[in-house]
Amino acid sequence: MIKLQISDREQLKTDYLLAIKPQVLEDLKQLKTTISHLQNASMININEHSRRIAANALVIKETFDIKGLGEKPFIKKNYIASALMIENAPNKDAIANLSNVSNILDHLLTDKNALDELLGGEADQLLGINTSLLQKFSIKLDGELKILRLGFRYWDDNAAGKPIKTFFKDKELTQFCPYCNNEPAMYLENSVNKQHVYRFDLDHFYDKARHPMLATSIFNLVPSGQNCNQVNKGTTEFTDQYHMNPYLDGFRRDLVFVPIMDPLNIEVKEIKLEIKTGVHISREEKIMGTGPDNVERLGNANAFQLKSKYNLPEVRRVAGLLLENIRSTINHLKSLEGLLGSADHINHHNNIKLWFERVSYTHFYQKDFGNSAKSKLNRDLLDHYCSSLNLSENLYARVSEILEESYLDNFGGE
Ligand SMILES: [Zn+2]
Repeated sequence: MIKLQISDREQLKTDYLLAIKPQVLEDLKQLKTTISHLQNASMININEHSRRIAANALVIKETFDIKGLGEKPFIKKNYIASALMIENAPNKDAIANLSNVSNILDHLLTDKNALDELLGGEADQLLGINTSLLQKFSIKLDGELKILRLGFRYWDDNAAGKPIKTFFKDKELTQFCPYCNNEPAMYLENSVNKQHVYRFDLDHFYDKARHPMLATSIFNLVPSGQNCNQVNKGTTEFTDQYHMNPYLDGFRRDLVFVPIMDPLNIEVKEIKLEIKTGVHISREEKIMGTGPDNVERLGNANAFQLKSKYNLPEVRRVAGLLLENIRSTINHLKSLEGLLGSADHINHHNNIKLWFERVSYTHFYQKDFGNSAKSKLNRDLLDHYCSSLNLSENLYARVSEILEESYLDNFGGE
């Protein structure tokens, strides 16, 4: 997994709030209006009676299991009738408490910081922000969450859905899926007929059904490939304990792809996923899912089927060719010394970087890994091969130093 690189996080948040907040406020206001109607039908005013408000009422009515509403709730007569029926709902308190939802909406509509915090909260604080809001307003019933969901209309292109998708299209946070570093996660359309060439998904890291208030939060929306999001992750619940969030981290070199060669040292027989020794167990759990109650899909490597994806015959074949290329250049000591020819330390990095990017068609620095498919694999192959070379001690020390340093912040690491 690759960390999503954001050069100016504060600016990104500011831009997001500017682009999204007006519509979310509007969506929350409409939900608040619906609830006022259902709490008191005499509040209904023809001027604020919109299809959205009526559609909200229909969902809320379903939550309360009220039968008998007409098919067209936006007809005022039916709408008022349905509002009045809430009063007689069976088990009303057990299903949802409209006052609790109404109170939390008031808070989000009037306290400027509360909504900013929810929409722009950092990835490692989102769950806490969400939980403390729910606790503060005593929201704990599924029915209440179901109603609250109507205020965070990620799925609705007539509501917050549209500006959110436009924002991520414009920002292009990555070209390839951070979860697998293989599938495209870019937006591209044919310039002639405007047909889609590629489209990315926005994965909700924390499930939007379980945490409806996080459905429109920027750092809960991960631009990703459709296979990773829909096929591999599906409805699996991601947690802080067992999953790694690409807004916070990547595998770095704690998980490496290791090529296992055939006896003739020509073909890559297998690509192993290896955890570096000494990695803290809490980090290993996020990467591999090796916890006390280990289930196949816990841990990002499991959830996104990385072992299978990186052991497809085509991937192994290309990995073999790259190793061949690296080997044939680097084995010529002269060309390696040429790459390291300059006395200038920075130039050593640049020369190795340029050479590697040319032979692999991918990227040398972690910060660029999202720009091409399999950057992490290719970089691991290079590291692996250089460490297994029979170089003179002196040269080996210089090469390893460059590879090691390229992972540090000042050379573009995470
Ligand atoms: Zn993916």
